[in-house]
Amino acid sequence: MPHTQDLLVTRTPFGSAPDGTAVELFSFANARGTQCAVMSYGAAIVSLQVRDRSGSLGDVVLGCDSLAGYLAQPAYLGAVIGRYANRIRHGRFSLDGRTYQLATNAGSHALHGGIRGFDKVVWRAEPYQSRWGVGLVCEHTSPDGEESYPGGLRVTVAYALTDSDELVVDYSAEASAPTPLNLTQHSYFNLAGGGDVLGHEVLIDAEAFTPIDAALIPTGEIRPVDGTPFDFRKRTALGARINSEDPQLAFAGGYDHNFVLRRSGPGDHRAASVREPVTGRTLDVFTTEPGMQLYTGNFLNGSIIGKGGQRYGHRAGFCLETQHYPDSPNRPEFPSTILQPGQEYRSRTIFRFGVAH
Ligand code: BGC
Repeated sequence: MPHTQDLLVTRTPFGSAPDGTAVELFSFANARGTQCAVMSYGAAIVSLQVRDRSGSLGDVVLGCDSLAGYLAQPAYLGAVIGRYANRIRHGRFSLDGRTYQLATNAGSHALHGGIRGFDKVVWRAEPYQSRWGVGLVCEHTSPDGEESYPGGLRVTVAYALTDSDELVVDYSAEASAPTPLNLTQHSYFNLAGGGDVLGHEVLIDAEAFTPIDAALIPTGEIRPVDGTPFDFRKRTALGARINSEDPQLAFAGGYDHNFVLRRSGPGDHRAASVREPVTGRTLDVFTTEPGMQLYTGNFLNGSIIGKGGQRYGHRAGFCLETQHYPDSPNRPEFPSTILQPGQEYRSRTIFRFGVAH
């Protein structure tokens, strides 16, 4: 039987992590009946049920039916990513005159926090109610030297669902020594609830992106999107140009690139707006972050068994990962990702759902 914490957030056991720690699933809803579930393993979003044009609820995030499913997949489904979202070249960087060698887990590079990133730890989680609405707060203490990152780190991620169908994700952190930090949310969305995402029409508020090399790591260049398949300043289907001959798309087998957002910093700026023409579902993403990775699920190949036994095929979901730019610790020209002790890291992203008629 589910153990009800209060009337608004239900917490249920969701199995045990490989180290034996109990994992829980937290479910909450808003006045409109929109429903969200988040588990303490990876502080991951497990389901998001939103209405379509005809009022039917449908799950718009990829995921698994059980914790075992999550433990078996390598795609970071729904998880919070840290300490450092995306890649750090050769897992190496210098800070205050010292060179750090991180754990490497993507060829010779570090990806999404290393071998055991924040997606693979059990967070302490409690239901909470903020001014936004109900949800939960997840907390993780990352020890000094974890995955070879310098300094201890206390991280909090709060999720809240508003009555206007916004999922608000608030990140905060404090470090005991200078450390690179770049947190994001790795949900794969599919507003149609199935099939590939190529028909989703996307607008991204970016005049430029950071081109990558064959290792999928930014070269340092900031390139205008004008005249490229990366120009989403006008709403365009994800599939419209994804297979066009373009060396940048070829490196990644699709979109897997950081966009330089036109506006960032204090205040919630719209980074992207997505519309799925068949169901009418929409998703708008607001953030304080300066960048956003558009990843079109190019590495999904049917090997992950997801919800209800469906196999997630090529481009079955897309991620909009609000972030600082990948590999910033090696790019002094990019906005800094170094958190200093005594400083408070704060970042917010809002996923707002709706319907277009
Ligand atoms: C990255 C991809 C990576 C994927 C892992 C994305 O954030 O940009 O390159 O393969 O995460 O699922």
